[in-house]
Amino acid sequence: MRIVLLGAPGSGKGTQAKMMAEAYRVPQISTGDILRKAVADKTEVGKKVAAMMDAGELVSDRIVIDAVTDQLRSSDSRRGFVLDGFPRTIPQAQELDTRLGWMGRPVQLVLHFLVDNKVLIKRVINRMSCANCGAIYNKQSSPPKKKGVCDQCGSKKLVSRTDDSEKTMRSRLEAYDQDTAPLISYYRAQHKLRSIPARSSMAHIFDAICDVVDTEIRPMEKKIVVIEEPVKIKIKKADPEVVDQATTKKKTGKKATAKKVTKKAAKKTAAKKVTKKAPVKKAAKKTAAKKVTKKASKRK
Ligand code: AMP
Repeated sequence: MRIVLLGAPGSGKGTQAKMMAEAYRVPQISTGDILRKAVADKTEVGKKVAAMMDAGELVSDRIVIDAVTDQLRSSDSRRGFVLDGFPRTIPQAQELDTRLGWMGRPVQLVLHFLVDNKVLIKRVINRMSCANCGAIYNKQSSPPKKKGVCDQCGSKKLVSRTDDSEKTMRSRLEAYDQDTAPLISYYRAQHKLRSIPARSSMAHIFDAICDVVDTEIRPMEKKIVVIEEPVKIKIKKADPEVVDQATTKKKTGKKATAKKVTKKAAKKTAAKKVTKKAPVKKAAKKTAAKKVTKKASKRK
């Protein structure tokens, strides 16, 4: 699956991208994380972008496009990816379309997270993350079980991002409205945009995302199974039965009725086989969702 998460800072893209990556086993590609790492490692790119990030401004398209392209080409992304925080401008989206077009793997869905600005500011000011494993917490709505200690890796390095202050957040929201919001029309025109109400709990939002993904992307895979199986089963199993029953009932003049009944039975057998297979996939997704929901409710 190839998905873009679109939403203002603090709308929960990062948290949901992590949950999706775990449930669907595809990498989360976050340009914010890539750039923060470059800043922490004091690379050439890091030195160039540090001041802009601190001010809540967008860094140059060229830098982020190059960073993302490296990740898209990596073998991890062969099964797909969840793009978090990229693209953030029309030129970035156009470049992404071009590069994925070369690879023959276009974006399939764009999930647009809907949250009011007031809620966003409150969320961001209270946000903390683990400097060791990247787990995200909120001091009010989802604090770690033990104060100051990461639930996932036990690290005591829970930090607030330098750009998560109220003043910087306002600049980031301005940048979003000016440069990123036009992407809503861009992807709507491609019929790829789906809205996700993102005010509720992490688990609820995740459920909404899974519903969209399973309806819009997964059925294409399932359909192939559904079409292939009944054809084989119907012919092999139903035929002798049809002949037997038809011959037996010929004398009684009930041939047509018998055929109808047998066809129904064959359909049922095929349907049963398909449904037997389907729960395996469903169960896998449920387990992943349960894991995530457990984590979410633990945090609460
Ligand atoms: P994020 O973690 O996605 O909120 O990104 C943090 C900061 O990194 C942003 O405020 C920007 O300064 C920079 N950044 C991340 N992604 C992009 C992007 N696609 N284009 C430009 N700047 C970005």
